[in-house]
Amino acid sequence: DGEKLELATIDESSKISFPLCMRNLHEGLRKEHHLKHNGRLQLGLFVKAAGLTLDEALQYWRTEFTKNMDVEKFDKQYAYNIRHSYGKEGKRANYTPYSCLKIITSNPPGAGDYHGCPFKYSDADILQRRLQTYKIPNDAVNEIIDLVKHQHYQIACAKYFEVTHKSGEGTATINHPNQYFVESKRFLN
Ligand code: SF4
Repeated sequence: DGEKLELATIDESSKISFPLCMRNLHEGLRKEHHLKHNGRLQLGLFVKAAGLTLDEALQYWRTEFTKNMDVEKFDKQYAYNIRHSYGKEGKRANYTPYSCLKIITSNPPGAGDYHGCPFKYSDADILQRRLQTYKIPNDAVNEIIDLVKHQHYQIACAKYFEVTHKSGEGTATINHPNQYFVESKRFLN
């Protein structure tokens, strides 16, 4: 298991090494075969920074999107933006993957959106059920819900890391989804 995100094992990685926000987006993409603009950016820049090559990224998005649209439409409407985010088209804009602060404070998700930080934006009941579905032990679920109620979203995320990695010490806080990914890979290797 390498340190770089691989397309072939992305479903596995999303369960183990993605923070909840990115797991949510990945599962949303698999389920809807589509993500809206903000979701595409949040997830797209994350997987890029985690190591997907441009070809892998194109394949990742194309595989899902073309379940609902033909390849021509995908290539015309979406492939350009993916290449663009890899600096292959247009202005060589710097697309920095979003930090937690940015995800938590900007563009609140609306109906049908998968982006944003689930610790901040999920309803407590929904978050609780979700964590139970992910087999998080009940005492940890309660601790996470309590942190969320006190608006300690990034500490809740660190707690989620700690229990999903059985790391004992844990990290004090999570500042960036890619920090989460790197620490997870380091822990597993
Ligand atoms: Fe994602 Fe950061 Fe929220 Fe964790 S705290 S789920 S990494 S936005």
